[in-house]
Amino acid sequence: MSPQIPKTQKAAVVVGHDLPIQVRNDYPVKQPEELAPGECLVKLHCTGVCHTDLHARKGDWPLPCKIPLVGGHEGVGDIVAIGAHTVDSPVKIGERVGIKWLVDSCLQCEQCRKGLEQCCSKAKLSGYTVDGTFSEYVVSYVNHVTPIPESLNSQEAASFLCAGVTVYRALKYSNTKPGDWIVLPGAGGGLGHLAVQYAAHAFGLRVVAVDTGAEKKELVLKLGAEKWIDFRETKDLVKDIQAATGGEGSHAALVAAASSAAYEQAIEYLRPGGSLMVVGLPADTQLNASIFWTVVKAINIIGSYVGNRQDAREALEIAALGKVKCHLAIQPLSALSDVYEGMEEGKIVGRVVLNM
Ligand code: NAD
Ligand code: ZN
Repeated sequence: MSPQIPKTQKAAVVVGHDLPIQVRNDYPVKQPEELAPGECLVKLHCTGVCHTDLHARKGDWPLPCKIPLVGGHEGVGDIVAIGAHTVDSPVKIGERVGIKWLVDSCLQCEQCRKGLEQCCSKAKLSGYTVDGTFSEYVVSYVNHVTPIPESLNSQEAASFLCAGVTVYRALKYSNTKPGDWIVLPGAGGGLGHLAVQYAAHAFGLRVVAVDTGAEKKELVLKLGAEKWIDFRETKDLVKDIQAATGGEGSHAALVAAASSAAYEQAIEYLRPGGSLMVVGLPADTQLNASIFWTVVKAINIIGSYVGNRQDAREALEIAALGKVKCHLAIQPLSALSDVYEGMEEGKIVGRVVLNM
């Protein structure tokens, strides 16, 4: 017998970019008989809070989002219904799955065929162009939900659906090899602290962590970073990075901070042939790179946007092996506004996961 689906639910709703978030109990739940073929309804256990949700809440990106909006894109829950006439569903009712930023894509266009599903022109983005996971139930799509490995509980798994898959893919395409140095600005945040672990324990890289504060320092050194630089205290970031990497600078940098300052000196501290992985998305900014030094040092500048279905599975498999763990604090959905405040002030160490 299928479980009873309520008509309304608790959800945290952005009603306007300058208005407080409303945590309401009367947000509609799409009913099983209303689901289109390919859609599924997921009853959420929990969801991570990503800095991207704060960008959506503030509306500070050039890409418009829907309003009213239920944010959130690091959800884990159980499938409770699948749309009638869905053909060949890869998942079934009762299965525990993850909801990532990319909730659906056409799977037919050139980008989808090449595995760049996140760049599909028909992509649906969780908690941005469609309602996301800051709610008890969410509508998702059978072809894009990610099965969750049994050995991870839902809270442990949640942040791999965005933070984990994003940094995993960026490292995969960073042109590095084991033993290389990588600089990770934003290392103590949600993406950054997972990047430290994937870099050190899955890719065999040597990590220079850049962030601020004693708590983040302690965490990233414990997670596998070899060197630490506090961006607020350093007098000369480039010199400090050169000194940390034996004089020559790093082979790669993966910027996981929502700050343009974190990008500023990357071309200077990368060694020739190095790669800058552009991941953090500060609002409305340009990447200012010296053309001369980018050419003469043969630097690669590479944008990296979340990951595809396969990247998500790989990122979770490595987590299931226990090689990468999310450092998280669990809070209720009603704490979302406070979480955003803490995030804005750079006070969140690792991730906050909201229980439903
Ligand atoms: P977060 O707030 O958890 O972490 C950001 C960290 O950056 C904080 O620890 C902060 O102290 C640190 N920081 C700030 N300024 C810095 C500086 N100048 N140098 C070094 N560190 C600095 O954020 P998050 O959830 O990890 O997200 C980070 C960014 O990545 C956001 O802009 C988010 O939108 C973006 N993002 C991008 C993708 C993608 O696909 N490219 C996916 C997810 C998130
Ligand atoms: Zn995210």
